[in-house]
Amino acid sequence: MKTFSLLRSAAWMLVICSSLQVRADTTYADDSTHQEKYVLVIHGGAGTILKKNMTAQKEAAYKAGLEEALKTGYKALQAGKSSLDAVEATIRVLEDNPLFNAGKGAVFTHDGRNEMDAAIMNGKTLEAGSVAGVSTIRNPIAAARAVMEKSEHVMMAGRGAEQFAKEAGLEIVDPAYFRTEERWEGLQKALKADSLKSRLDHSYQPAGKLGVENIDNKFGTVGAVALDKAGNLAAGTSTGGMTNKKYGRIGDAPIIGAGTYANNNTVAVSCTGWGEFFIRSVVAYDLSALMAYKGLTVQEAGKAVIEKVGTLGGNGGLIALDKNGHAALPFNTEGMYRGMVTAEGKITIEIYK
Ligand code: ASP
Repeated sequence: MKTFSLLRSAAWMLVICSSLQVRADTTYADDSTHQEKYVLVIHGGAGTILKKNMTAQKEAAYKAGLEEALKTGYKALQAGKSSLDAVEATIRVLEDNPLFNAGKGAVFTHDGRNEMDAAIMNGKTLEAGSVAGVSTIRNPIAAARAVMEKSEHVMMAGRGAEQFAKEAGLEIVDPAYFRTEERWEGLQKALKADSLKSRLDHSYQPAGKLGVENIDNKFGTVGAVALDKAGNLAAGTSTGGMTNKKYGRIGDAPIIGAGTYANNNTVAVSCTGWGEFFIRSVVAYDLSALMAYKGLTVQEAGKAVIEKVGTLGGNGGLIALDKNGHAALPFNTEGMYRGMVTAEGKITIEIYK
């Protein structure tokens, strides 16, 4: 009897230790906010965002930007507008804010250009629209919506997408509009690191074989997911992509099912992080499928997909809002700019883990 209970304690110790091991191996955070009901959840990018590297001023500016976006979307939802309207309005605010890597303030490509991607999806109809590699559309999220609503296509790229946006009456700007000094410096740092690494190690492939580099250790894509009064979900994502990206590289944001997805039966999702890994893991759709086919909660499914990204060696995070207004905001980076608002108008904004 004694031997049995000793064995049983040893077995329990083993279980506890191995679960601790899993925790120690996985850098993972989740706000676990499922008790409350949210109508709008946003992100402003995930990455190495550490308090010690942030000035009080900068932190306040980021928080103000997130708050302005949340209030804009919330106002739309309160006025009875659709989740699509709220997502678009929210993302426009973030695109116009140079702090975020979307619209003005987008990161630079290897060739010194700003090439943006965006997508939007209607959870009620499963209609979707996206644009990729655009350089002259002031608000790429508006172009994504126009693709969804005013064309028979889902995805348009480059010059064709720009032509379409112009014909749809959207605001077209000179490519110089998107430039900010901070992002330009980010590219210079990435280029320097590229050439230094290739000189130091001949086996090193500049900026990795992916042709992109997360040089400032911060992503910064923006995204929004919303649930409106009619019970309809919508998701949207907009980004400048990754610093030093090459050869017309396109990330996960405009790929429906990878960086963006919405389905009234399950969840609305917007991702941020190292896009190649999010594409390969088909993150947003995988999250929805885990809920639909396995009956996982939004928290369980969110945690599972971010862990899959981590297993492949990728990093980032996502926001997910289910059909009942429960939210999950998992990420495996040091921080993620994020915010939520409840149906009663209670706003929460967070940056660090
Ligand atoms: N996911 C984006 C991309 O790979 C980058 C980001 O989230 O900041 O293009």
